[in-house]
Amino acid sequence: MTSYQPQQFASDNYAGACPEAWDAMLAANGGSATAYGEDSWTGQAADCFRTLFDKDCEVFFVFNGTAANSLALASLCQSYHSVICSSAAHVETDECGAPEFFSNGSKLLLAPSPDGKLTPQAIRELATSRSDIHFPKPRVVTITQPTETGQVYSVAEVTAIAALCRELGLRLHMDGARFAHACATLDCTPAEISWQAGVDVLCFGGTKNGMAVGEAVIFFDRALAADFGYRCKQAGQLASKMRFLSAPWVALLESGAWLRNARHGNACAQRLAAQVADLPEIRLLFPVQANGVFLTAPAPVLDELRRRGWRFYTFIGGGARFMFAWDARIERVDELAADLRDACRLCRAVPIDTAAALS
Ligand SMILES: *Cc1c(COP(=O)(O)O)cnc(C)c1O
Repeated sequence: MTSYQPQQFASDNYAGACPEAWDAMLAANGGSATAYGEDSWTGQAADCFRTLFDKDCEVFFVFNGTAANSLALASLCQSYHSVICSSAAHVETDECGAPEFFSNGSKLLLAPSPDGKLTPQAIRELATSRSDIHFPKPRVVTITQPTETGQVYSVAEVTAIAALCRELGLRLHMDGARFAHACATLDCTPAEISWQAGVDVLCFGGTKNGMAVGEAVIFFDRALAADFGYRCKQAGQLASKMRFLSAPWVALLESGAWLRNARHGNACAQRLAAQVADLPEIRLLFPVQANGVFLTAPAPVLDELRRRGWRFYTFIGGGARFMFAWDARIERVDELAADLRDACRLCRAVPIDTAAALS
């Protein structure tokens, strides 16, 4: 027997596939088609990205974000190179060393950053800290848009980072696992916040945007994509029935669901934040700029939330994290807000040290 849990906001990956993506997979399942990306959906999906970005880019489809980032970074580096990233970057904290593995040892150089953002100053310090032969040669900067804590780089911020990259001879990679959410927040075109701002390679997340599976790796400089197909194949990332990764992209991009889904997630995050903003026990750890809310509360409040069945992570960003996907139900967001409010009230009524004993 299969069963679903009450909706949770522990991760945007708890969501299923959105109707547009699912229907596209169903439609692509109608018969036989050429394998390994030689089908019509895959070509069409790549064209959809060229239209969306208004750019003749090279596009590849892989299964997940770890592979997308790792293979993209590997394609920009030799093994003796290094990659500058924030200390909170997914490539550093949540990819099990895959970027180093797939690049045969390219080292990640970390800039300390609690909110996950990189600054030109931090990049310059790391990139110019050494120039001798003993140090892994800086080659790439990777930024996450929005960051792991939901912070969005403005077009000006990305442009400034890209300008510094040009000056220092570095390439710029963007981890866009939630790229759509950043576009929704900035209300800019995908081109403005990527290649027009100086991004060389973008990993555009499909999974957190409503697909069942799949990410797109987009090379705005086509020369950088040389042999990338071989990398994908060697890494076990060349889908034999590629149409099931690509057809949902056609649907998402053509229907506008990519942006609708992101706007919905962002709006739910705003809605939760607004409802708990006045609670003295609760502090928002970061400004809410995308589809996540990070908050701190006294331990008994979080315990009470858990007792009421809510699931959330506390190892990202240093507080309780709530993420909202395309399917977040407004009533459920409001339930979470009400439970938070209630938990705070209870913990106010009961002295902190006895709260645990009563629960
Ligand atoms: C989710 C996520 C990824 C991709 O993770 P996978 O689980 O490998 O698909 C990459 N970067 C960031 C910032 C993410 O949040």
